[in-house]
Amino acid sequence: MHIELTEMLRCPESHREEMLVLSTGEVRDRMVRSGLIGCPVCHKEYPISRGIVNFRRSKERVSNESSSGPRPAYQPPSPLPLADADRLQALLELSGPGGYVVLVGAAARQAQRLSALMDGIHFVGINPPPDLEEQPALSLVYATEKIPLRSAVARGVVVGADLTTSPWLVEAHRVLLRGRRFVVVNEDPELPIGLEKLAAENGLWVGAKR
Ligand SMILES: [Zn+2]
Repeated sequence: MHIELTEMLRCPESHREEMLVLSTGEVRDRMVRSGLIGCPVCHKEYPISRGIVNFRRSKERVSNESSSGPRPAYQPPSPLPLADADRLQALLELSGPGGYVVLVGAAARQAQRLSALMDGIHFVGINPPPDLEEQPALSLVYATEKIPLRSAVARGVVVGADLTTSPWLVEAHRVLLRGRRFVVVNEDPELPIGLEKLAAENGLWVGAKR
């Protein structure tokens, strides 16, 4: 996880948003490889190992770590061809460097191609495919139901085909800045109320936050 991402994080428990506290272990090139994230409100602690922050509840964490192989909910990578990263960039309407783009599920695979097109943007992969490693422009986070980021911090959100269910779409909408776009890799997602559709074509659904 990039060290500066700390100030964007929030505890997934349902209490007020408060800045989390980072205790670093190993740090390499501003990426925290190991450490602990602590919540000053509920005092829960979330470990960082191999660079990935784990916000999953401890029960789930244990069962995940004890099982080898892919997670049961894991589905094949997004059907979106990697060559379409430039189309994604256009749909997200991102110009200019800086800020964060959130990639949920299999969409995290797009980070490398997108970062080549959008220099200076940091990507945050939520529940990435198990084989994906963090990169200088990509921080990885495991979560249960809630995206552990503060509200209205992302310049864009892409939700991968494996997580296009209502709770994740509600969360994608919450973390997005007003006026910004979100793309779902599913033409007909299970939409919660309040999301505004701009277009749906070629396997992608595009919305904006008003
Ligand atoms: Zn908390």
